[in-house]
Amino acid sequence: MAMHNPLGTHIQVWSATWSADDVRRTAERASECGYDFLELPVRDPYNLEVEGIAKALQDNNMFCCTPFLHTLETDIGSEDKVIVAKGEALMYDALSAARDMGSRHITGPAHTALAKHTERRSDLGRRNAIEVLQRVAEQAREMGMSLNFECLNRYESNFSTTCVEALDMIERVGADNCFVHLDTFHMNIEEPDAVAAIRRAGKRLGYFHLAENYRGYLGTGSIDFQSIFRALADINYEGPIALEVFSSAITNPVHSAKLAIWRDTWSDSIDMATHAMQFIRCQQSNAERRINL
Ligand code: MN
Repeated sequence: MAMHNPLGTHIQVWSATWSADDVRRTAERASECGYDFLELPVRDPYNLEVEGIAKALQDNNMFCCTPFLHTLETDIGSEDKVIVAKGEALMYDALSAARDMGSRHITGPAHTALAKHTERRSDLGRRNAIEVLQRVAEQAREMGMSLNFECLNRYESNFSTTCVEALDMIERVGADNCFVHLDTFHMNIEEPDAVAAIRRAGKRLGYFHLAENYRGYLGTGSIDFQSIFRALADINYEGPIALEVFSSAITNPVHSAKLAIWRDTWSDSIDMATHAMQFIRCQQSNAERRINL
């Protein structure tokens, strides 16, 4: 079995902003490094140059996947009906922008607010989120899009931070276009066993993020990528895989503050992206060879 996952990088590996010009410049460089797609966040759908971005991607034979996240002001898992309604309305606008940019996958924590939460998520909040996600998933289905819910770590979310919890949430949403989005950085904190989490997700794994435990160069930290890639091959995962590394040298300061990126763990985008591409290809071919034995 050959692994043919589309490979991508987050826009913030290259650029702190994603105007049409930024996307064009980045798409040129990233496609030269061998990537198939860019991750372009749609958390602020009103300020995206949607048509220009779609054209810039098309001209470089690339596509995009579109991370979405809530803030506390639009948290669909809130107990406050006004906040929940605001969050739901924002999601429809984000879906439209994503579709118009050519995206087929919403990724990231679309079910929760990325924030340092100080209380456990309430049952009422969970129910509110699931009701909204049922309607949003239906809308996404009509647009030919999937929703991939990312399990973040405990310092960034208090809702579905493990694969098992996300699978349970998806079952309650009950839509066939909803999947789990796993991330090696977060799994390193929350999962007792990342390989078991990937196997447990199985066919419900829809999206995958690669990052070292300290978001530096892949293979220079403590993540066991060999086991991770073997597990991905074992479940025949054919979905997108994206590099998500951040450095305060490149990343937008607001985003850096949210994700606690306080250091430059790297500074050269092309070097980082080229190294990651070689690393991923090597891991994939090793995993494949093992399977063919
Ligand atoms: Mn991630």
